[in-house]
Amino acid sequence: MLDNFRTGSRKNLRSGTGTIRNLLEQNVSDPIAGCFDGIFHLACPASPVHYQADPVETFRTAVWGTYQVLELARESGARVVIASTSEVYGNPLVHPQTEDYFGNVNPIGLRSCYDEGKRGGETLAMDYARTRAVDVRIVRIFNTYGPRMMFDDGRVVSNFCHQALLGEPLTVYGDGSQTRSFCYVSDMVDGLIRGITSPVFDNPVNLGNPEEFSMIELAKLVGELTGSTRPLRFLPLPSDDPSRRRPDISKARKLLGWEPRIPVREGLIRTLADFRTRLGRNAD
Ligand code: UDP
Repeated sequence: MLDNFRTGSRKNLRSGTGTIRNLLEQNVSDPIAGCFDGIFHLACPASPVHYQADPVETFRTAVWGTYQVLELARESGARVVIASTSEVYGNPLVHPQTEDYFGNVNPIGLRSCYDEGKRGGETLAMDYARTRAVDVRIVRIFNTYGPRMMFDDGRVVSNFCHQALLGEPLTVYGDGSQTRSFCYVSDMVDGLIRGITSPVFDNPVNLGNPEEFSMIELAKLVGELTGSTRPLRFLPLPSDDPSRRRPDISKARKLLGWEPRIPVREGLIRTLADFRTRLGRNAD
């Protein structure tokens, strides 16, 4: 396993069930040594707050980090799952998003370091598949959440859970009518594992939960589950914030036999339980 822990935590490794062997603490953009059968390439900050904190480094990670991983896969003869993102669809004009939609992305905006970086990573991966015979599997991951997220991750689910449990008002950006689809972490892990073990693949494949929520609906649900009665706090909408997001997962269903099992309500209950425990321990 390789991580530079820029947006992760060593504590999360400790609470896993398996033992992590050969933990390399380094940046994915630096050359990687070793020989592997299979590689999951998930390295890159994924929350807008974190990926915009150092956009140059984000772009470098998404493109050059992916280059390093693809070189490693080529040298090892490894199969590689490349974590791409729903951000490749930008502010989509097609709804729900199917994999054959090319997207509507601003190449020079605040989100571009991530959106265009991930698009560049997909380009590299496909060219390694076509010209270097690397077995690549690109998965486009939609907004994913769950226990052990950092309290300061900055994404909406962790913000709402954290704020509600602290008795603070939930921060809704814009008018809260924008939508997202939230996938529970264990479902996503299942999809990633199917992605690498499946005998066949057809690039790229969407992985996400097709249940679609407006931010107001999500705030109401978190309010209901926590008993939070504070009025919502409306803040400005960040630039280029997509107005609608929902994956079409027909391909994942057919190809990988995959679909999410944990409804958002249940996933939030589990996430809130973990946040409550960690806040009680004051461990983060
Ligand atoms: N958002 C919000 N309040 C927050 C954080 C995010 O209303 O405290 C909104 C954000 O503007 C976006 C949606 O929630 O429309 C999802 O944002 P997130 O940062 O989770 O990730 P994204 O899907 O945009 O990458």
